[in-house]
Amino acid sequence: MSNFDFIEIIKKKREGYKLSREEIALAVSGYTKGEIPDYQMSSFLMAVYFQGMDRSETLALIEAMINSGETIDLSYIQGVKVDKHSTGGVGDKVSLVLAPLVAASGIVVPMMSGRGLGHTGGTLDKLESINGLRTDLSEKEFIKQVEKIGFAMMGQTERVVPADRKMYALRDVTGTVSSIPLICASILSKKKAEGADCLVLDVKVGRGAFFRSMDEAVKLAKELVSAGNCMSLKTVALITGMDEPLGRSIGNWLEVREAVSALKGEGPEDLMEAVITLGGLMLVLGERVSSVKDGMELIQHKLDSGEGYYRFLEMVKMQGGDVSVVEDPDSYPECKFKEVVKSPCNGYISDIDGYEIGRTAVILGAGRMRKEDEIDHCAGIVIQKKTGDGVGKGERLAFFYTNRYDVIDEARVRLLKAFKFSESEVKRRPLIRGFIDEGLIKDSGCLCDLSL
Ligand code: URA
Repeated sequence: MSNFDFIEIIKKKREGYKLSREEIALAVSGYTKGEIPDYQMSSFLMAVYFQGMDRSETLALIEAMINSGETIDLSYIQGVKVDKHSTGGVGDKVSLVLAPLVAASGIVVPMMSGRGLGHTGGTLDKLESINGLRTDLSEKEFIKQVEKIGFAMMGQTERVVPADRKMYALRDVTGTVSSIPLICASILSKKKAEGADCLVLDVKVGRGAFFRSMDEAVKLAKELVSAGNCMSLKTVALITGMDEPLGRSIGNWLEVREAVSALKGEGPEDLMEAVITLGGLMLVLGERVSSVKDGMELIQHKLDSGEGYYRFLEMVKMQGGDVSVVEDPDSYPECKFKEVVKSPCNGYISDIDGYEIGRTAVILGAGRMRKEDEIDHCAGIVIQKKTGDGVGKGERLAFFYTNRYDVIDEARVRLLKAFKFSESEVKRRPLIRGFIDEGLIKDSGCLCDLSL
């Protein structure tokens, strides 16, 4: 395809017309092969962002992205393969805790994750904070590991969904992340290519998510669920709150550290609620149990027995990571600067702005502002108070860690701005806000009392 043809495709989408399957395929393959430059693809992505895509265009985009590379065949490994994916949040280290627990429960979890996007973190960046740990596994390594320990965590490669690898990085720095068709294509292309049979989605809603309103989150969840099921990927979606960060740590190594504590039974309440619920759903889809309730109990058992933690260690070892920092997190090198933010008043924390916290983490070095930016793995924030907690004047609200001296003042101001205070007691909002499925889960009523 000539670049002239691609300009016509951009203009067509810009004017709100429907693109054909062939046009979408040409756009994706042209960009993957390097025939279309970043600036033209950015323009195309922005046109999609504003004009959207209908179902058939979205399916064509998913198909084109899958076809940009090879797909992994796990069909000869016994059992149902189930994965989980989040639409992106702040402090969201669920996958790190969940995948080993589900694998320890007897389900095969082939997990292809993403990097940080915008103000949100990504599983690959978090994992790579462990010295030596590789997420660029070859298909052979991925399959071998899935066979041996029941799960593997890798990223898109030059061979598997290379289109998502490139488009994801471009969307991150061009303000084109929060688009329903682009999110659907990015997530579902990875899941089909990695060989999953079933998918449990954690669709985030709130200030720290890409979609802030429940209406938008439900729309995204419905689109993901029905596009997934259309492609023979049994898909369900839990909608969870992302107003304040999940857990207490934000930043790559800090989140791995919190995930390791969680696997040792010391996880924060909100993180564990997400892990246990999503895990319960995965075990039902994987036909390991017949009810979500039983699934949640089995996940809790694998947590209590320490089996999830040992699976995590095995994954780190197999992917080349330094196990010693997982076994002794205090040995991990700290950032040059460790700062504290204190409360300006007495009262209760009424709210914490997840978006502001996520942006601050990026400024501290935990995320990217340009495609070529290097992540500073030890940078980030540890929150000491969560919504609903009482606080006294001068008490610590958060610590932050950075190697950038010049951002300390800005980070302090931003972090303080993120915390809201009330004189009276504040009730925390429930984490689970909704559930979308197409009749796959019989006892979904136990998940929440919201009917969507
Ligand atoms: N996760 C992905 O893999 N892609 C997106 O676009 C958003 C979240």
